[in-house]
This record gives sequence, structure tokens and C-alpha cells, in this order.
Amino acid sequence: AIAWFTHQFTHQSDVFKLLILFLSDERVPRAIKWGMQSQTSPLGEFDLIQRFFKTQSEPMLTKNPGSVKLGIGDDCALLKIDPTEEIAITSDMLVSGRHFFADANPEWLGWKAIAVNLSDLAAMGARPLGFTLALALPDPNPSWLEAFSRGLFAIANEYDCPLIGGDTTAGPLNICITAFGGIPKDKAIRRSGASEGDDIWVSGTVGDARLTLAALRHEIELSKDDLALVEARMHQPTPRLNLGIALRNVANSALDISDGLLGDLRHILKQSNKDAEIFLDQIPKSSTLLKQSQTIQHQYAASGGDDYELCFTAPISKRDVIAKISADLNLPLTQIGSIQSMQHSVPEIHIIDKDGKELNSQQAGLLLKSFDHFA
Ligand code: ADP
Ligand code: MG
Repeated sequence: AIAWFTHQFTHQSDVFKLLILFLSDERVPRAIKWGMQSQTSPLGEFDLIQRFFKTQSEPMLTKNPGSVKLGIGDDCALLKIDPTEEIAITSDMLVSGRHFFADANPEWLGWKAIAVNLSDLAAMGARPLGFTLALALPDPNPSWLEAFSRGLFAIANEYDCPLIGGDTTAGPLNICITAFGGIPKDKAIRRSGASEGDDIWVSGTVGDARLTLAALRHEIELSKDDLALVEARMHQPTPRLNLGIALRNVANSALDISDGLLGDLRHILKQSNKDAEIFLDQIPKSSTLLKQSQTIQHQYAASGGDDYELCFTAPISKRDVIAKISADLNLPLTQIGSIQSMQHSVPEIHIIDKDGKELNSQQAGLLLKSFDHFA
């Protein structure tokens, strides 16, 4: 890995090509390679890790080591395991050109990379224990790294989730985070737990990230103020960790909305073998989205991705508890429909309009289409 790193991060003179051959030779001890590399590279792998990641993660661990026995610096990090808990593990990869533009604001990238992983922990009801960061970079640009780590640690600090290790290499920009969480035994909220008669709920509002994308692509004109409002929703999503934890003994099933509300709801239905009825007008939308045409509102709220709100199902008997959770967290929780028994061999979502009429399959099809990374 070091040889490859060196290869990418330094000027390639002919002499240097020889050096690369030397560095890539597995028989050359690593300490020798490293000594040579620090003379030729402006910002080496270990300096980079120390400066932008280790130094930032240390105060958090000193203040509250929590479950971390050993952080960055050895071959592995060590986590202390609470015997009353199960460990939740999730990875998300952000790939340049696929999930973001190569020139994307690095502070937002750092924020989003950790936020989407914490959102997965939230969806299961886990509390964060720590995360690792595997980073491929085209070049070790200090100002880029400084902004990236600022965004990363802003959210990691806010949710007490220390960086405990990772890997760094040269390559096309690619950010892969693995987050670890703890959940009391048997309390994880799974996708497979939806029960007939459950209410279906959504946190916050949905559709703003899709609206931002439309504005950036000039499909829709937004005023500067409106764009600023929705843009933060796309670039700096809020993981709903406190909600997930509050739902441990309340929700029968949950997931976070990354690819679109109804498409993601379908994962719950498939794993629970259930149908759903959804009231289109009840899907919660921001005041900015509500300024758009009905068609856009419905389309973006129902199928726009990247919201990172939670969608969950809970028995009717939990409505009061859910209202209290909403008030305590100062976070709107909106009931948008209910879980029904499955009528056919595949789960169906019946979408009901404001006049109480079910959309036909063509109208519904548009709203059910969710984002597919291979499409
Ligand atoms: P190894 O070769 O044994 O895998 P490395 O030399 O890659 O170790 O990394 C040295 C230390 O720095 C390890 O503790 C590793 O977890 C940590 N590390 C490497 N890259 C990162 C990163 N991007 N963020 C946080 N920690 C990192
Ligand atoms: Mg390594």
C-alpha cells in the first residue's frame, strides 16, 4: 500500500521509477521504505493520518474513552464489548462521480460520509461506539484534507462517535466508512418486524435533497434563499440517532431513507411480507418543497433519495408514546399510512390521493421508482 501511495503522490522522474520498483519490493522492510518516502513526499501517509485524523480523534477519546480501549496507531483498534449488548456494524462507500462530484466541497463530503453511516446505526436503534475510515485520495492536498476532517469531526463529535482506525492510499477519490454501534440484546429494530395494522411513520420532512439536485441540475429554478435552505439537507444530513434509540421499545420495524421513501419502504414490506397503504398528501414536506407544483411535491417526497430520515412502523397503541418522543426530540414524526396483510405473492403499496382514490399503476409506478446505483 505504501509503494502505491508513493507512486501516486510524488513526481515521477526516471530515478523515481527505480525507487518505486524498490519500494514495491515486498522484501524491502517497511521501515526503510518509509524513511525514504518521507524525504521525497511533501505530505506522507503517516504525517497525513497523524495531522488530519489521529490528532482530531484523540481529545474525544481522552475526554470519554467510552468503549474504545485503543484507537488509531496500532494494527487494530480495540473496542470493549458490553456483554449486555449486541454490536451493529455498517459500511457506506462514497465514490467520486457516482455519489458526489469530484470538486465537491470537502467539508460537506466529510460530514456526509460519517452521517450516512450514523444514519444506518440510527435505523437499527444503535448507539455509536466508533468508526473506521478507508480513504483513497488522488493527491494529499492539505487544504482539502483540513476541510474534509473538519466536516467529519463536526458530526463525529456531536454524536460521540470517535474515529478509531482506517486505511489511506492513493487512488480515485473514494471514502469508505465502517461504523460500529451497540444495542441492548434483542432490541435491534429490523426491517422484518412490520405487523399488520402498524402505523407507518416518517421523521422530519422528505424530498429536499431531491429538490436540491433538481436545482443544481437546472431542472427547477429556486431562489437563492430557498436553495440555501434545502441544500443543507442534501449535503449535511442529520442522522436521527436519538430517535432510533427512543424507538427501541416502540417500533416494530425501521429503516433510514437513502434511496427514496416509498422504494425504501418496500424493503420493509418485502422482509415483513406485508402490503402498505400510503396517503400521498400526508407525506411531510418542507415549506420550500410545498412551493413547487403538486406533481413535483409528490414525486420528490415519495421517491427522492438522500434524505436520511427514518421510516418506521409501530402499533396504533404506541401513538401517544410517539407523540411524546416527537415533542422531546423537537422532531416532527408524521403518520403516513398503515401496514396491511399481503394480498398477492409480492408486497404492494397502495397510494391514496387526497380524494381517497387509489392511484392507478402507471401513476403509482412513477412514485415508487427509487434510486438504483447500477441503473
Ligand atoms: P496497517 O498497514 O497495519 O494496516 P497502516 O499503516 O495502514 O496500518 O495505518 C497505521 C494506523 O493508522 C492504523 O492504526 C490505522 O488504523 C490508522 N489509519 C490509517 N489510515 C487512517 C485513516 N484514514 N483514518 C484513521 N486512521 C487511519
Ligand atoms: Mg493499512
